[in-house]
Order: sequence, then structure tokens, then C-alpha cells
Amino acid sequence: MENMNIDFTKMNGLIPAIVQDAVTGKVLMQGFMNEEALAKTQETGMVTFFSRSKDRLWTKGETSGNFMELVSIAVDCDGDSILVKANPKGPVCHTGADTCFAEINSSKTGFIDQLREIIKDRKNNPYDKSYTASLFAKGINKIAQKVGEEAVEIVIEAKDNNKELFLGEAADLLFHYLVLLEAKGYELDEVMEVLIERHKK
Ligand SMILES: [Zn+2]
Repeated sequence: MENMNIDFTKMNGLIPAIVQDAVTGKVLMQGFMNEEALAKTQETGMVTFFSRSKDRLWTKGETSGNFMELVSIAVDCDGDSILVKANPKGPVCHTGADTCFAEINSSKTGFIDQLREIIKDRKNNPYDKSYTASLFAKGINKIAQKVGEEAVEIVIEAKDNNKELFLGEAADLLFHYLVLLEAKGYELDEVMEVLIERHKK
């Protein structure tokens, strides 16, 4: 994240930092960072702002315990604002709301995007102990076969009434399905496009 080419001069040393939940994609809050706050955020992994009212660095959660753990930082096209992706440890707003925009922040489906990034990374940077990397090493046929096996397993659990086992198989199937898509070189969005097209009719 070094050398991000951020222009701190436009607002007297401050830049707006928009914080987004790394899993749900919800916008959590907006604050200001100076260079020191940005450096501290990167060093500690906890999102830290420059508080204009306190006139000092302020690590979100320092009093409430509801820290926001840093996932990534991206700079906008003009280099004068940043997008911070983070995992909040609790409600973000001082009012007790999930976000400072009073939105509910509970959906976990956005984790699929994070999972896809991890799967992509295991394909491109394989290492010995990674199960996912071992699947890619075995090739398409083996991965497709795994999807088939997991599909059979969820069918078996569907006939039973064990929530834990059923959800476990549902997760296995989804995971191996995503691995198969990656192995074939397709994006989940391309599947979504097929579904969206179908619903236009
Ligand atoms: Zn707030």
C-alpha cells in the first residue's frame, strides 16, 4: 500500500476516507485522515482517523471497543479521497446503528466476493498446504467430479433433518462450484448475467 500517490494538499492535510464493510459492501461511515492517521491505520490494521473535533488521531473503537479491522485501501481517480474496506467489530455509529447512514448491515453474501479472491489467489499463487491449490493442480476433471460428489451429498442431507450437516454440504457445494468457475476461467458475474437475462423475459 506504499506510494499511493495521495494528494493531501487540497484540504489542508486531510483527505476524506469512506469506509465500506469488506463483506457486505455497505458504506459504514466517512471520516478524515491525515498522513499520520493513514500510516497508523496501515501499521495497526485498525482504521484510524484524524478527528477534527478532538483535534487528534482517533482510532475508531478506542472507547466503544467496536474497532474496524482494515482489509484494504484504494485511492480514487484524482488521488484526493480513499476507500477503506474493513471488518467492523460491532455497530459503527455512536448512535448504536450498524452504519452512520442508519442502514442495517447484516447480509453476509458479499463474502462470496472475498472467497472468490482467495480462490483466485490460490490458483495464481499456489502453496503446498492449500486444499484449493491442490484442487487446481489436479485439473478440471477432478474439480468437476468434486462438484458432482458434493451435489450428491447435499441431496442426501436434504432428505434428512440435520441443519448442521445440510449447511455444511451446502457450503461445500458452493465452494467447489466457485472453484470450478475459476478453473474454467469464468466470473460469477457471467453466471449472474445469464440469470438477469432470463428474468428480463
Ligand atoms: Zn455515526
